[in-house]
Amino acid sequence: MKRITTMTLLMVSLFATAQQETIDQKVNTLLKKMTIEEKIGQLNQYTGDNSATGPITINPNKQAEIKGGLVGSMLNVIGTTYTRKYQELAMQSRLKIPMLFGQDVIHGYKTTFPIPLAEAASWDLQAIELAARVAATEASASGIHWTFAPMVDIGRDPRWGRVMEGAGEDTYLGSKIAYARVKGFQGSKLGDLNSVMACVKHFAAYGAATGGRDYNSVDMSERMLFETYLPPFKAALDAGAATFMNSFNDLNGIPATGNVYLQRDILKGKWNFQGFVVSDWGSIGEMVAHGYAKDNKQAALAAITAGSDMDMESNAYRYNLADLVKENKVSIDLIDDAVRRILRKKFELGLFDDPYRYSDAKRAEKALNDPENRVAAREMAKKSIVLLKNENETLPLSKNLKTIAFIGPMVKEYKANMGFWAVELPEVDYNKWIVSQWDGFQNKVGKNTKLLYAKGCEVEGDNKSGFAEAVAIAQQADVVVLSIGERHDMSGEAKSRSDLHLPGVQEDLVKAIAATGKPVVVLINAGRPLIFNWTADNVPAVVYTWWLGTEAGNAIADVLFGDYNPSGKLPMTFPREVGQVPIYYNHFSTGRPPADENAKGYVSSYIDLKNSPKFPFGYGLSYTKFNYSGLKLSSVKMKRDEAIKVSFQLSNVGKVAGEEVVQLYLKDKFGSVVRPVLELKDFQKVKLNVGESKTIEFTIDKEKLSFYNNKLEWGPEAGDFELMIGTSSADSKLKSDFELVD
Ligand code: BGC
Repeated sequence: MKRITTMTLLMVSLFATAQQETIDQKVNTLLKKMTIEEKIGQLNQYTGDNSATGPITINPNKQAEIKGGLVGSMLNVIGTTYTRKYQELAMQSRLKIPMLFGQDVIHGYKTTFPIPLAEAASWDLQAIELAARVAATEASASGIHWTFAPMVDIGRDPRWGRVMEGAGEDTYLGSKIAYARVKGFQGSKLGDLNSVMACVKHFAAYGAATGGRDYNSVDMSERMLFETYLPPFKAALDAGAATFMNSFNDLNGIPATGNVYLQRDILKGKWNFQGFVVSDWGSIGEMVAHGYAKDNKQAALAAITAGSDMDMESNAYRYNLADLVKENKVSIDLIDDAVRRILRKKFELGLFDDPYRYSDAKRAEKALNDPENRVAAREMAKKSIVLLKNENETLPLSKNLKTIAFIGPMVKEYKANMGFWAVELPEVDYNKWIVSQWDGFQNKVGKNTKLLYAKGCEVEGDNKSGFAEAVAIAQQADVVVLSIGERHDMSGEAKSRSDLHLPGVQEDLVKAIAATGKPVVVLINAGRPLIFNWTADNVPAVVYTWWLGTEAGNAIADVLFGDYNPSGKLPMTFPREVGQVPIYYNHFSTGRPPADENAKGYVSSYIDLKNSPKFPFGYGLSYTKFNYSGLKLSSVKMKRDEAIKVSFQLSNVGKVAGEEVVQLYLKDKFGSVVRPVLELKDFQKVKLNVGESKTIEFTIDKEKLSFYNNKLEWGPEAGDFELMIGTSSADSKLKSDFELVD
């Protein structure tokens, strides 16, 4: 049996190599037939006008260019009819090279999943992979070959609107999620129908924009780049990511798009990335505005030299590369390398066998209406919700309450629940397709429960004229649920904010409702950590609901009425005030750490604010209680090539079944460079029934102890470590010291 398995494996791998060779040969044969204009065409990507139905009108100039073989890829062309129409034009070109259709399928296609930051709060890698899988299944049936996701930028600054699109502030969690998302999008193999190519973005350090202002400059040490910002990209590459996207920002003075060090030396050199790199939208041309290139021609030279293979919407390659080759400034080998990388993917996707294989109306009909997709979306949404506060067991609510007042500007919203970066299909009636929060409550409560509604106020503005009605219905109710937050389009690209407080008069509305003395539950809908100190300090129950997608209302009702016990944990630190930002849990220690929260004097603190966050990274409550006990380490000394086995008992000592995310943090007490006060190094999401206990095990090996030392070499240093296991970055339940010895 064993021999058969080995034989089979050998044959499979030989076959794979042989197939790879044939693809490379096919690419070379094709390349030989191509003119320089056709080669440059493959590096050129244009946008369509993003319509899936209705009359198909394609700009005549674009039609001519596609027929001329001058366009290698389109973005924003979706739907089987539309993608087919475009592909038919490419099939009229001399060499009939099919086009690639790319799209921002960030958190779902027709079925919208929670925004990526919300999904990250689930710490549930399987569910996250499944979410990407469902998105890939729906998108790939609709003509899409390629998604511009996952975004794996580390986000330590909630002013930056794109934190909603990533996995939060932590490198370890972010790397695991990056891996899961690539696997989900790409499935087991490129070319399998149901899979789309992933595009890992934005390479690199885009999330560290100065002041949290989108597109802004980044100045960062190499150590920080390697240790904190690059690992999620490497994890995505290890998962097999087919493509990368570069970024808008400059890094230490060089725009990422023209950055040789990032793309040639690290990505294609050190990491040996074999796929292709697409620029961000117009980012080649933007190097002129950066002041890095005199004109588009110089920008094209910088970008192709640095390793940007495809030009998204700058027209810089299309109109300049041929001249640059003629002038001997760009070698034809450089162009050929970029073209090869792109053609290889087109072969792997099977597009040369059948250029329309992804545009299959029958498959789309089935994939887009598969009820299982909604089931997955509801599961993901439930797991993404974070319970921040629950005094006096205000939650879960009974389904038999007589009267519930459901108040706030988000209650009856439909499309808003999709958040930013959702695909909008013209044929879908979203008021029917999405479960609003109001609908979710109605689906949940019994016949004898009366639901009352008032809007109270808008998200923005200073109009309080709706308060009186809201207070009046609150007074009639047993419980008030208030749904507030930031508008869905206040986070996302180009949605940086300098103020993170709840917008408008929403917190005044909370105060007015709380003054009725009724039990109040506040739901906060947002794409980033917000500041809501009064609410957090005075209202008994607060739930962070982000933007949860198609099944938002059902998922929220599942949690509020106790059909699902919340298990989400914050993937970003929540500040007390904007002045603390950037704030993240794994900071370094200073020479003057304050002895306690209120210490004043010559310590590293603010004279007007505590250092601690409002809610720490990794924090989130449950309806049950978990007990941590019996920590055991197989040894408290280890050598580099050894490992320590860590085990402990986790017990559910509360009244309902639930899931706990147990988190393992390490602190390297001293080193050749200073080390963070603690770092997440492992976690497990564990489900326990009432009264159940499980032995949880972790392994500490040298990889977990490694960092970039003072010579920028990766590895561990001998010395003292502290191990902390707990329920958040600020609440360790079990601790032990151990030592790495030479
Ligand atoms: C964004 C990318 C996105 C691209 C295409 C850009 O503005 O930064 O993340 O993939 O547009 O829509």
